[in-house]
Amino acid sequence: MSRPDLSTLGIKALDHQGICDLMQELGQPRFRVKQLEQWLYAKAAKSYDDMSNLPKAMREALAQKAPLHYPTVVEKLVSQDKSRKYLLELCDGSVVETVGIPSNGRLTVCFSTQVGCGMGCAFCATGKNGLVRSLAPGEMVDQLNIVSADFGERVSNAVAMGQGEPFANYDNVLAALRFMNSPDGLNIGARHITVSTCGLLPMIRRFATEPEQFTLAVSLHSAVQLTRNRLMPGVRKYELDRLRDSLISYGENTGRRPSLEYSMIAGQNDTDEELDALLAFATGMLCHVNLIPVNPVPGTGFKPSEPERIEEFARALGRAGVEVSIRNSRGSDIAGACGQLARSAR
Ligand code: SF4
Repeated sequence: MSRPDLSTLGIKALDHQGICDLMQELGQPRFRVKQLEQWLYAKAAKSYDDMSNLPKAMREALAQKAPLHYPTVVEKLVSQDKSRKYLLELCDGSVVETVGIPSNGRLTVCFSTQVGCGMGCAFCATGKNGLVRSLAPGEMVDQLNIVSADFGERVSNAVAMGQGEPFANYDNVLAALRFMNSPDGLNIGARHITVSTCGLLPMIRRFATEPEQFTLAVSLHSAVQLTRNRLMPGVRKYELDRLRDSLISYGENTGRRPSLEYSMIAGQNDTDEELDALLAFATGMLCHVNLIPVNPVPGTGFKPSEPERIEEFARALGRAGVEVSIRNSRGSDIAGACGQLARSAR
């Protein structure tokens, strides 16, 4: 990978190899890479001046070549359910959102992978603003560190389910996941790190070949092609039968079970026809279906399905031998739930 421009995003633009190359250029021994990454990600340093075990000349050279930026919290909202949403300003003035969700001794962070999003999903506030830019690896890791500092506890789980399509920023997202997973970074187990995609098939195939046991979630939202095209126009070229084949291969190649996310929208994807299609899609493959009542997003007109209807879907899937859960979004009162994050919140 050619080196990204460091003048704007600085050191946070680099993946692990990029940091190795930079240190070599500066004539630094290999062990300095580990020290630098620990400062950047395990200790969330905000300035090179804090890095007390690195030589001063090296810190000055780094500051010149690759400035160190850290996002600023411009707003924080706390939900009745204790989840917290943060509006973060990045070094170029871009704004992203991240959500911290505490539960049963765990702290999950739902982080953003892009500023805005180009996928245009019909039920999503972020999609309405289009894509501004993709985030650098360090800008994703910083979101976890900001939430961790605010809660005063370590992050146990990370999900790339905030703003953006992670697989449209594949290399940077993978680099970020590796810093999150690394013992010199946040030391979060790979299975506790989830990437959620709309279903970019080439990237699902690539993800299956990565050595780490990261978890995959796919936004399905309908197993009827016409409905899915309407709800998720950004992936209409990846037809459902090809998506199903890719997920079957993913399960066979990795032995891991992808989850299928299904936001239940009254009158849109909760009809009998939709249920039959979902059963046909999910039966006989390694998967876990999550049924989630859609969150209202102003301007979409979408309403969540009735709880009884969601139960009916769950029972039918269960009878067919498909693993299924009903999930309730956290933080919906602060617009921090899935599909509600938007730059315009500022
Ligand atoms: S749901 Fe995700 S992929 Fe779809 S527009 Fe929103 S942020 Fe993008």
